[in-house]
Amino acid sequence: MKIAVIGYGGMGTFHTECLKQYAKTGSEPLTLAGIYDIDASREKAAEANGLYAYRSADELLSDKSVGAVIIATPNDVHAEYVKAAAEAGKHVVSEKPIGLSLRQAEEMYGYAEKAGIVFEVHQNRRWDDDFLTVKNIYDHAGYIGDVYRLESRVMGGNGIPGDWRKKAAQGGGMMLDWGVHLIDQMLQMVKSSVSSLYCEYSYIYGEEVEDGCRLSVKFENGVEYLVTVSTDCFRPLPRWQVYGTEGTATVAGWDLSGGMTRAIVRHDDNIAGIRAGNGFTRTMAPRIGDTVEEKVLPVVHAEPFAFYKNFAAACAGKEPAAIKKEEVLRVFRLMEAAARSAKENIVIKEKI
Ligand code: NAD
Repeated sequence: MKIAVIGYGGMGTFHTECLKQYAKTGSEPLTLAGIYDIDASREKAAEANGLYAYRSADELLSDKSVGAVIIATPNDVHAEYVKAAAEAGKHVVSEKPIGLSLRQAEEMYGYAEKAGIVFEVHQNRRWDDDFLTVKNIYDHAGYIGDVYRLESRVMGGNGIPGDWRKKAAQGGGMMLDWGVHLIDQMLQMVKSSVSSLYCEYSYIYGEEVEDGCRLSVKFENGVEYLVTVSTDCFRPLPRWQVYGTEGTATVAGWDLSGGMTRAIVRHDDNIAGIRAGNGFTRTMAPRIGDTVEEKVLPVVHAEPFAFYKNFAAACAGKEPAAIKKEEVLRVFRLMEAAARSAKENIVIKEKI
């Protein structure tokens, strides 16, 4: 099947590079047909990279040899392209976030269902090695016991990059940009309903959209989960901190550095105190000796090109699509509840 990419910016370029590599794997075929971008300079960039550049979206969508389309435009135009591509009978991948609201997301699934096409949203960070490693720790109590609290964060120091990401009308803001990924990961990991949440947005850079967010979620099974997105930080905290009944795990970053400390003795009654600052403490003294043991992270690597492989197989009717409608809508429902919490400064007690 031939596939074309609409929007040849950062992510569109990433997709074309991945698809070139994917074609060499011998998996269910997905051949790159070309790209379309509204910006002529991006057409030229595509041609310089050896790609065919369609001169209009119509030219692309009326190309009968194209079976599927990836939409990698700013967030506000995902919906119109999903509708047009579905009506043209193409299978569709929309970049995350699916659209601008839960209501729009539901409409977009409506277009796909009416046309009978495969429609997936590229919530690709389900296949990040750091996430899969933490999920492995979460799923297996043998590592640090039962996990009861997780902190998942991404911290950059670049502010909000580009132009459209700073505009509310284009679906900008860090909740839709990064929050969507971290929430998707959270809901993939914790198989329980959300019972309450509280969220704060930050506006350090004075943009009209939030440049960061801190979302605290409580699940019915007792798990607490903190999601942090920031763009104002030059000294990032670990990507993941995971607390279990028998230990703590840290995944420091995407390089999978970090480790696990497991308690051999949960409470050390013989702990010696230390001088700390202008005082003395036993409570905060580091654990020593053989009361704890250090372990390496139980690293999990994703199958290469898992998303493209599954999408191609789904279009060929050989596998169900991995990223499901209910999952995408649930992430959006949670993001909208978080936005309400941030706006009104309230705890939302809703089953999500
Ligand atoms: P970008 O600004 O780098 O690129 C967007 C491109 O779309 C630009 O080249 C622009 O000219 C083009 N464009 C704008 N309006 C268009 C239209 N009406 N028709 C055709 N082309 C149009 O942005 P980006 O960082 O590549 O983000 C694009 C999308 O990808 C966003 O939805 C973003 O959230 C998503 N994204 C996803 C990931 C991921 O890991 N899944 C990572 C980055 C971005």
